[in-house]
Amino acid sequence: MATVPEIDHAFLSALASQENIEMFSVADLRADTVDYHRLPAASLEPLHLAIVIGKRVSPTVLDTLEDGPNLIYYHHYRQVNFLLDRVALKIASEIESHGYRALPVAASQLVDWKEQLGHVSHKRLAWLAGLGWRGRNSLLVSEKWGAKVRLASILTNLPLEPAKPLNKDCGSCKRCLDVCPAHAIKDAPADFDRAKCADKLKEFTKTRGIGVSICGLCVKVCCGSAG
Ligand code: SF4
Ligand code: SF4
Repeated sequence: MATVPEIDHAFLSALASQENIEMFSVADLRADTVDYHRLPAASLEPLHLAIVIGKRVSPTVLDTLEDGPNLIYYHHYRQVNFLLDRVALKIASEIESHGYRALPVAASQLVDWKEQLGHVSHKRLAWLAGLGWRGRNSLLVSEKWGAKVRLASILTNLPLEPAKPLNKDCGSCKRCLDVCPAHAIKDAPADFDRAKCADKLKEFTKTRGIGVSICGLCVKVCCGSAG
């Protein structure tokens, strides 16, 4: 008789790795305030952990960006999101098949257009899971790939050992300040001008035939600890 594999951190991270997902970690949602949007509180109550997965964005594709987004980046961005969503579904299905609860949250899905919010901030969960820090560009910056990563999350009650946030920041690096066409990036991450960035992305959606809010310029130059 076939044996059912034990479901634990090693099993799930191997499953993600087989699908070319480079980042996998666990956040304790009780360790910090996490805001949820458009999800019933009662359904979230038992889900005290989040598995956060991250997929590297191709530096080769990013190198094609000059003064804003282009169609090849748009296609790549969508494919990375599809892969993350597919792996999040696979992980959630495995967890549920072992009798636990698991809620995969889409890599890129706005549930509040005005405020540009998803159900939950993957960046916040990734920070809690020790996958990086909040950069001057307001993105999750990982040590190895900088901001060249996209994220998805699976909220769960499967007992897993959570990681802790990193005690790191951008240090003296300010590479993204000069490339931002909206001048939205400031010295302090807290001073990031979200409205200016959003206006520029809106402009790009109208002028470049892309139709979604992407840019990529501050992602392209961000190399994490490599500066
Ligand atoms: S996404 Fe573009 S406009 Fe927004 S902060 Fe980055 S470089 Fe600036
Ligand atoms: S480019 Fe440098 S300053 Fe900007 S977010 Fe990345 S590490 Fe931080």
